[in-house]
Amino acid sequence: MKKYWNEAIETLPRAELEALQLQSLREELRFAYENAPYYKRSFDEAGVSPEDLKTLQDIQKFPFIDKKTQRDTQGVGSFLGELCAVPEERVIFVSTSSGSTGVPTMSPFTQQDFDEWQDVESRWFWQAGMRPHDRYVHALNFSLYVGGPDVIGAQNLGALCIWGGTLPSERLIFILKTYQPTCIWTSPSYAWYLGETCKKSGVDPKTDLSIRRIFVAGEMGGSIQATRDAIESLWGAEVFDFYGLSDIFGACAAQCEVHDGLHIAEDHILVETIDLNTGEVIAPGQRGELVYTTLRKKARPLIRFRTGDIGFVTVEPCACGRTHARIHVDGRKDDMFIVSAVNVYPSDIEYVIRGLTEVTGEYTVRITEKNFTCQYEVTVENADAARHTDEQVAARVSEALKARIGVKPANVVVLPDGTLERSTHKAKRIIDERKLEYNI
Ligand SMILES: [Zn+2]
Repeated sequence: MKKYWNEAIETLPRAELEALQLQSLREELRFAYENAPYYKRSFDEAGVSPEDLKTLQDIQKFPFIDKKTQRDTQGVGSFLGELCAVPEERVIFVSTSSGSTGVPTMSPFTQQDFDEWQDVESRWFWQAGMRPHDRYVHALNFSLYVGGPDVIGAQNLGALCIWGGTLPSERLIFILKTYQPTCIWTSPSYAWYLGETCKKSGVDPKTDLSIRRIFVAGEMGGSIQATRDAIESLWGAEVFDFYGLSDIFGACAAQCEVHDGLHIAEDHILVETIDLNTGEVIAPGQRGELVYTTLRKKARPLIRFRTGDIGFVTVEPCACGRTHARIHVDGRKDDMFIVSAVNVYPSDIEYVIRGLTEVTGEYTVRITEKNFTCQYEVTVENADAARHTDEQVAARVSEALKARIGVKPANVVVLPDGTLERSTHKAKRIIDERKLEYNI
């Protein structure tokens, strides 16, 4: 059985990959400029034209866009707005963003955009070890969410697909028991919750079920080793982190068997990293905001889209043989907060909590302010009250957070096992009670 879904593309030497990117980028810029009213205007205002692109670095001459650009141009001039580069009759699908940071935005696809997205999806499933003999449960929301259609990528690969959606847990456990699927995709918190729920109903996910691969997305947990380890030992399965954006498509990047960062489909997306404050492009390996440019999308090309995701990129070859860069996402710009001049990412807190045996792994973080200073409080559960007092657990958590992040929490609240709400799907662990505006 072949190792790669598309060996020629996935292992293309970097120089050739970059030559391909340059050619695609030229075409994408020209297409956007000639067909999307927004780009015509913004390129003209910035005094740049698609012909100014001679090297990949020349992309830096072009202006950024962000979520706000999408919201401001949506519905302007036409139903799909000024970023859209094709007439509506060529659009066959729209997904919408969750709207968690404002008005939901629509992401349109032509038939070609959609088919190419599903081919990338097949690439990720294959990379994560799915094969035609697998039975796959797609346990993601189908309603408006861009992760829904990703199931087609698994079908195109030849797997037997069960369109689970967001079924109630009892129903999903019934499917896992009765059909014995081998792969599932869900959020990391739901994977954990579902495994625990199985155990409570007398089903051991490791021995009574056949799940051997779990794909996760939508939260940071899938890239946090301790979270992955916990889910893996609960299920006896290998966890692969996937990463998608409703703005581009359902899965832009995914982990290979090496699990060191997520390969991004560089034949479809050009990645840049920029300094959070200055917007200057920074070198691979440095941490900043990830900026993506679509190289092939026609319905709505995105040129230099600031994602709000914080992380870094590695371009060194991966042990798996794939040449495409890997992204390492640490968190969202919107979620980061600053305590005593230290940038705190909720993913760092999760990393610590999931790595301690004294706590159950469930947690919430409350961000508050006192005397105009931001501080954070962490609530955890005592995993074994017979062995550790709550005071011991609090001290251990506080010390471990200080060691990893550099600043202690203002307080650690310790509750009995089972007190915190077990979240299904996208977990809400951060409670931001600040009233002042904090700029980062
Ligand atoms: Zn790899």
